[in-house]
Amino acid sequence: VNAVHVVGAGLAGSEAAWQLAEAGVPVILHEMRPVVKTEAHQTDGCAELVCSNSLRSDDAEYNAVGLLHEELRRCGSLILSCADATKVPAGGALAVDRDAFSALVTQKLHTHPLITVDRAEVISLPPVEWGPTIFATGPLTSGKLSAAVQAETGEDSLAFFDAIAPILYKESINFDRAWFQSRYDKGTGTDYINCPMTRDEYEAFLDALLAAEKTEFKDWEKDTPYFEGCLPIEVMAERGRQTLVYGPMKPVGLTNPHTPGVKPYAVVQLRQDNTLGTLYNIVGFQTKLKYAEQARIFRMIPGLENAEFARLGGIHRNTFLNSPRLLDRTLRLKTLPRLRFAGQITGCEGYVESASVGLMAGVFTAREVLGLPEALPPETTALGAILNHITLNAAAETYQPMNVNFGLFPEPPEEKDARGRKIRGRERKVLYSRRALADLPQWTAAIPALNKA
Ligand code: FAD
Repeated sequence: VNAVHVVGAGLAGSEAAWQLAEAGVPVILHEMRPVVKTEAHQTDGCAELVCSNSLRSDDAEYNAVGLLHEELRRCGSLILSCADATKVPAGGALAVDRDAFSALVTQKLHTHPLITVDRAEVISLPPVEWGPTIFATGPLTSGKLSAAVQAETGEDSLAFFDAIAPILYKESINFDRAWFQSRYDKGTGTDYINCPMTRDEYEAFLDALLAAEKTEFKDWEKDTPYFEGCLPIEVMAERGRQTLVYGPMKPVGLTNPHTPGVKPYAVVQLRQDNTLGTLYNIVGFQTKLKYAEQARIFRMIPGLENAEFARLGGIHRNTFLNSPRLLDRTLRLKTLPRLRFAGQITGCEGYVESASVGLMAGVFTAREVLGLPEALPPETTALGAILNHITLNAAAETYQPMNVNFGLFPEPPEEKDARGRKIRGRERKVLYSRRALADLPQWTAAIPALNKA
């Protein structure tokens, strides 16, 4: 079998390369870092997590991304196995030590006998002699390659903002004010650090946030909509004086041991960011404030008076295709079917979603080069739901990236509880996940890497 070219060794490209190589298909994996850098990556490691160290909820019954984790595990995913091997405590979430995680993915890919890693920027569409190729170049696809893709698709890629939350050193936190506790006491005792605010402290903080200097938009960034799930803290604050208290600063499920009997008005949560437990990120505080303003304003948070920041927040570009119009059901560009796309550039959103589209692209390509018929994951699975969102979205005109959620799944059949009542609300989610895991074997049977002779 000829080698398949995979461009981009991020979450999606790493997973795609692994699925191909494990299926016995040689891979040439092109990664431009460290030769060419992106606005957000800081290392030359494969599958670098550019922002949060969390792969979000690991609850496979009640949460769609937790279900996606479980599906990926059962599909032999490289990203999930490396995440499980390098996880740090984070309550019900799957969070990882970002350096250990990326190092493990890098080592697995670099030592695989069928994978060759080429550290160079790809700047044009794949030449014919490359044969089947996967572009998994992510939301920060280099400018030259974006231009080449755009020339082929004739589509304007949409751009919008994603924002990074600041990370700080635990030793700089004042525990006379802050305390360790997970919401509702889930997880270990040290997953989260909480900083309480009285009403006056909150009001002063909010005023400072609203008045703070933001980074200027670049021309090409103007008029671009934010992704609702990742709104900058100052944009959320602009929506109303109570928005943060009902959002990332909600005080529920927490009790301040320093002030027994007194409920904080608002709470800023910090989540463990590395295995050592030396770094914590401020949950939900992605921001486009200027660096000096971030340091000044975030030090107004009780407990963070002397905070030292390991990394401040920032804003970033996100490039993605109008996939429902451009791609076929197995992620091939309709006008150039030897080229597949995978990862966030297809308009999925999130680390795990990107990895899952990488897995599907790898499996589709492996089946193609091995002469096997096309096979799609059932639409009742999280994988199938994401694939449908990307390739069958009816609203192609207004297509926007989306995290996996049960809203993307077909409705489950009505089921009644023991007393004959319709199952609703939270319990209904279990119907989706149970059905997904029951249907998944139809697809795992089609994954070449899992079914080698
Ligand atoms: P990447 O992981 O970015 O991988 C693409 C790779 O392709 C990179 O290694 C890049 O160097 C390489 N590349 C690009 N162009 C070329 C080229 N021309 N030639 C060769 N190589 C190339 N998701 C979350 O779930 N949680 C978060 O907290 C989160 N934060 C984000 C913060 C920012 C700033 C951004 C931009 C995105 C964030 N995302 C987050 C969204 C998304 O999950 C990640 O971007 C994820 O890494 C996407 O995976 P990917 O494989 O599609 O792209």
